[in-house]
Amino acid sequence: PERTLVLVKPDGVRRGLSGEILRRIEAKGYTLTAVELKNATPDVLAQHYAEHEGKPFYAPLVEFMLSGPVLAVVAEGQGVIAGFRSLAGATDPTAAAPGTIRGDLGRDWGLKVQQNLVHGSDSPESAEREIGLWFPQP
Ligand code: ATP
Repeated sequence: PERTLVLVKPDGVRRGLSGEILRRIEAKGYTLTAVELKNATPDVLAQHYAEHEGKPFYAPLVEFMLSGPVLAVVAEGQGVIAGFRSLAGATDPTAAAPGTIRGDLGRDWGLKVQQNLVHGSDSPESAEREIGLWFPQP
């Protein structure tokens, strides 16, 4: 079955929303196959966010992702990559539709980086690359 990497970002963990976010993934019918609280490292983040290097929000994004633990999750199921992105809602929490994770639970804190609670892989290639990055096999 298809897999995706979900991260509950430091704002979600700090606000105690990890359980609510996992609940929504499971309630949709996806299977959680790995769940681990982790501290990101600059090296993992440089690889995870390589496509954003050089953008104005890159440094604040990395700093934010290092500001506390993240919950790294692998979810499985038919169409889970697009399905989770649909559950997450638009990148900007103010614009995200009600009913989505970001629309229901996120807000715009007026910061340099969107603290938008979750990350979800955007393609099968990204998913496999990101799962390898966050859950390295010895
Ligand atoms: P989505 O693709 O739904 O936006 P994503 O997490 O994949 O979710 P990316 O475009 O890959 O979003 O950007 C990565 C992260 O960088 C975002 O989730 C957000 O935290 C931050 N970010 C992206 N664009 C901006 C921006 N214009 N201003 C501030 N932060 C941003």
